[in-house]
Amino acid sequence: MNVDPIIQVDHLKVIYNKGKQNEVRSLFDISTRIYPQEYVIIFGPSGCGKSTLLYSMSGLQAPTDGTVLVEGKNLSKMTKAEMVELHQVGIGMVFQAFYLIPSLTVLDNVCLPKVFRGESKVNRQENGIKLLHRFSIVEQASKFPSELSGGQRQRVSIARSLINNPQIIFADEPVGNLDSESAENVMRILKELNEIDKKTIVLVTHNPEHLHYADRIIYLKDGKFVKEEVNTDKRPIESEKVVDVKYEELSNELKILMRTFKNLTLNQVGSLLVPFKADQLMSHVLSELNQEQLQTAGGYLKEYLFGNIGLDALAKDLDMDYEKGGAGWNKQRVRSFAERVGAIMELSGRITDGDDEAETLRSLMVYLTNVFKLNLEGIQKERTNAALSERIRNKIDRLELQKKLDLSKALGGAGLHKHTAEKISREVEIIMLMKYS
Ligand code: ADP
Ligand code: MG
Repeated sequence: MNVDPIIQVDHLKVIYNKGKQNEVRSLFDISTRIYPQEYVIIFGPSGCGKSTLLYSMSGLQAPTDGTVLVEGKNLSKMTKAEMVELHQVGIGMVFQAFYLIPSLTVLDNVCLPKVFRGESKVNRQENGIKLLHRFSIVEQASKFPSELSGGQRQRVSIARSLINNPQIIFADEPVGNLDSESAENVMRILKELNEIDKKTIVLVTHNPEHLHYADRIIYLKDGKFVKEEVNTDKRPIESEKVVDVKYEELSNELKILMRTFKNLTLNQVGSLLVPFKADQLMSHVLSELNQEQLQTAGGYLKEYLFGNIGLDALAKDLDMDYEKGGAGWNKQRVRSFAERVGAIMELSGRITDGDDEAETLRSLMVYLTNVFKLNLEGIQKERTNAALSERIRNKIDRLELQKKLDLSKALGGAGLHKHTAEKISREVEIIMLMKYS
C-alpha cells in the first residue's frame, strides 16, 4: 500500500506502576501500522494487553517507551488542546460498558460530544436524530439509558462516537456484554461503518467468531506480538447474513419487488436495504455514467437515503470538484439528477403515507408523462391509470403491469409502445423499492 498509515505504532512498551512492587509489564515492543479505511481486529486472551494497545493508540494511555502516531502526529508530543481536538473529532470510542450518562436522555447522550464544540442546539440535535434514526433507535430518543436494552445502549454509544464524524473508530469489546442477536447487530453496524462510511475501525475482541469481520488481525499473547494475519476470507458485505428471514414470512409487497430485483436477497432486508436502494436508484437514473462517477456519487446518494443529508446537500456534493471531495459532475447533470431523485422520493413518500390514491396516481401520471414524454389518448390514459393503481396496491407485479400497458387496446390493454411499457414499469418499480423499508 502506498498510502500513509493512519496509525503507526513503533516499539511500544507499556509498564503499569513501573518500579513499584505491583509493576505490570503490559506490552512489550509492539510495532504495527493501520491504514485508512482498514478494519483491524486486535485479538488475544483476556489480560494479554489488547485494551492497553487500543488505549495507547487513542492517547488514553501514555507509552512507557516507543511511539504512537495518529494521522502522522506523535501522540506524546501533542499539546493538550491537540489531544482534546483528536478526541472530539478525530476518533470515536466505543466501550464494552457503554459509558452513557444515566441522567441524560438518549439524544442528549449522543449529542454530548457536540456540546463541547459550541454548536447550536438545533444543529446538534438534528445530527443526533439522524444517527438514532440510522441505528433504529429514534423512538428511544427521549428515554433514559436505563430504559434501554444492552444492544440499544451500545447503538446509542456508537451514535455518540460518530456525532462529530471522526475518521477512526476504536471499539473495546463492544459486544462483550450483549446477547448474541444484539451482538450480531452491533457487529454489523461496525462493518457497515467501515464498508459504507469508510471509517477506519480498530476493534478489540477475544471472540474468534468475530475475526471474519476484519481485513487484518493482530494476535497478542502475554503482552507480546504473536502474528499479524490478513483475513483472506473476509466476506463481502452483500453476502453477509443480516437477519434470518424466511421467504414465506416476507410481506407480499417485498415478494413482488424481489421478482424484479433479482439481487435483492433476503439478507439485505435488514440494514443493507439502503445501500441496495442507492445502487438501484443510481444505476437506474444514471446508466450512462462511468464507474468512477458512479462510485463517488453513490456514496453521497446513500447518505441522502440514510437521511444524513438533504437533497440540497446531495446536489452540492455532486457538483463539487473531485479534488475538493465532490463527485465532479457538471451543473446541468446535477440539476436533472437531483430533480429526478427528488421526484422519485416524493412519489414513493406519497405512496407510503397512503395519501389520497387518486391524487397519488395523478402525480405519478404527471411524473411519467414528463420523464417519458408521453402523449396518451383517453382510453390509454384510463387503462394506464388502472394498471398503475393495481401495481401501487401490490395487486400485480412489475411484469403484469408491463403486460397491461403493452397489451393492445382491442384486448383491453393500454396499447402503449413496448419500450414505453417497459420503461414505465421499471420506473414504477424503482419508486416502489424506494418506498419499501
Ligand atoms: P486485555 O484487554 O487483553 O484483557 P489489558 O490491556 O486490559 O488486557 O491488560 C493487560 C495487563 O495489564 C493485565 O495483566 C492487566 O491486569 C494489566 N493492567 C491493565 N490496566 C492496568 C492498570 N491500569 N494498572 C495496572 N495493571 C493494569
Ligand atoms: Mg480489555
